[in-house]
Amino acid sequence: MFDFLVVGAGFAGSVIAERLASQRGATVLVIDKRNHVGGNAYDRYDEAGILIHQYGPHIFHTNSARIFEYLSQFTAWRSYEHRVLSHVDERLLPIPINRTTLNELYDLNLSTEEAVERFLKGRAEPIEHVRTAEDVVLSQVGRDLYEKFFRGYTLKQWGLPPSQLDKSVTARVPVRTNTDDRYFNDTHQMMPAGGYTRMFERMLRHKGIKVMLQTQLRDIQDVIPFRHMIYTGAIDEFFDYRYGKLPYRSLHFEHVTLPQEWRQPVAVVNYPQDEPYTRVTEYKHLTGQSNAQTSVTFEYPADSGDPYYPVPRPENQERYKAYERLANATPNVTFIGRLATYRYYNMDQVVGQALAAFKRITERSAAPEPRVGDYAVEQAQALRRA
Ligand code: FAD
Ligand code: UDP
Repeated sequence: MFDFLVVGAGFAGSVIAERLASQRGATVLVIDKRNHVGGNAYDRYDEAGILIHQYGPHIFHTNSARIFEYLSQFTAWRSYEHRVLSHVDERLLPIPINRTTLNELYDLNLSTEEAVERFLKGRAEPIEHVRTAEDVVLSQVGRDLYEKFFRGYTLKQWGLPPSQLDKSVTARVPVRTNTDDRYFNDTHQMMPAGGYTRMFERMLRHKGIKVMLQTQLRDIQDVIPFRHMIYTGAIDEFFDYRYGKLPYRSLHFEHVTLPQEWRQPVAVVNYPQDEPYTRVTEYKHLTGQSNAQTSVTFEYPADSGDPYYPVPRPENQERYKAYERLANATPNVTFIGRLATYRYYNMDQVVGQALAAFKRITERSAAPEPRVGDYAVEQAQALRRA
C-alpha cells in the first residue's frame, strides 16, 4: 500500500512527490507513461554529445525567490538570459519588439523611450475593451507590427487567428520602449547546470519514492493499492471525455545535427512568416557547450499528437470548468499541472501550484476529520452516491 500514487513525473508530479516523501515521510509511487522523468522539460544528450530538449526549448525564469530556492536544492545553475530574434522580411529582428526592432525595421533613429512611445502611440489602435490576443497587440503597436510579428506566428502556433484567442496568449510577450532585448523580465533567469533531467533525478532520489516508467494509470489503478492520487495528466482523459474533448495544441519536433559550428546568433529564432515551422532552437547557446557541430530543433505545430498547450479561449474554459467541478467532487484525487488544470502555465507556476497543493494536502490530513481514507473504498462510496 502506497500513501500516494502520483501520475506523471513532470514538474507537478516530481515536486509534490519529493515534498510528500521528504517532509511527510510518505511512501509515493510515481508513474509516467513515457520512458523518462521530467515531463516536457526532459533533456538528453544526442549523438553529437549536445544536450537537447526533447520537447522544445525550456528556459527557467521566475520572480519567486521561494520557487528558485526550492529548485536550487536539486541543481546548480548556469547564468543565462534568453534572447530571441524574429525572422521578418528576410531580417533577424529582436522580439519582444523594442527600440532596436523599430529602428532596424523602419530605418529610423529613435533614440529615447519617449520617442518610441510617441511612435507607437501614433500606430496603436484604440480598443476600448481589450479581450483577445489580437486586441492586445493592436492596442499596443498597431496593425503593421501585428501583421509582421504576431498574426502569422499565432495562426501557425494555434491554428487560430489571434482574434479567437484569449488576451493572455499574446500578453505573455511584452513591448519595450528601451533596448532591452531579453525575452523575459523575471529576476531569476537561468538554466539547470547539469540539465533538467539530472535535476528531476535528484528530486526523485528518495527512499520513500518509487518511479515506474512506461506505465499508464489504467495499467495499475486497480492493481496497486494507494490512499490518495495526485493526477497531472489531461483532465478530460481522466474522466473518459464525459463532456467532450478539451482541445490541446500539439507540436512535432524535428531534431537535427548540422555539420557546422553555429546555425544562428541566438538560442531561438521565431518564424512568423512563410516557413511551416514556428521556431528553431540551437541548444549550444543554452548549455554553453563547445562542439564543432550544432544541434537544432524545428517546431511544427499540429492538431494531433501529445497534448502540449491548453488552448486559452472562453468556450474551452467553460468546458474545463465542467471537468473541474467533477474533479472537485472526486474524493482523494488531487489535480495539478498544466494538463490537469488546463492552464497555460510556465514551469515556475507549476512548481508553485505543486507546493501549494502539498500544503493543502498536509493541512487536510493533519486535521482529525475528514481522514484521508482508502482510495478504493471512497471511490466506491462516491460512485454509489452518484
Ligand atoms: P508535463 O510536463 O506535461 O508532465 C505530465 C506528465 O504526465 C507527462 O510526462 C505525461 O507523460 C504524464 N502522463 C499524462 N497522463 C498520464 C497517464 N494517464 N499515465 C501515466 N502518465 C501520464 N515553461 C517555462 O517556464 N519556460 C519555457 O521556456 C517553456 N518552454 C516550453 C516549450 C514548449 C514547447 C512547451 C510545450 C512547454 C514549455 N514550457 C515552458 C511549459 C512547461 O513545459 C510546463 O509548464 C511544465 O513542463 C508542466 O509540467 P507538468 O508536470 O504540469 O506537465
Ligand atoms: N507570439 C507571436 N510571435 C512571436 C512570439 C510569440 O505571435 O514572435 C505569440 C504566439 O501566439 C505565442 C504567444 O505569443 O503562442 C506566446 O509566446 P511565448 O513565446 O510565450 O510562447 P511559448 O514559449 O509558450 O510557446
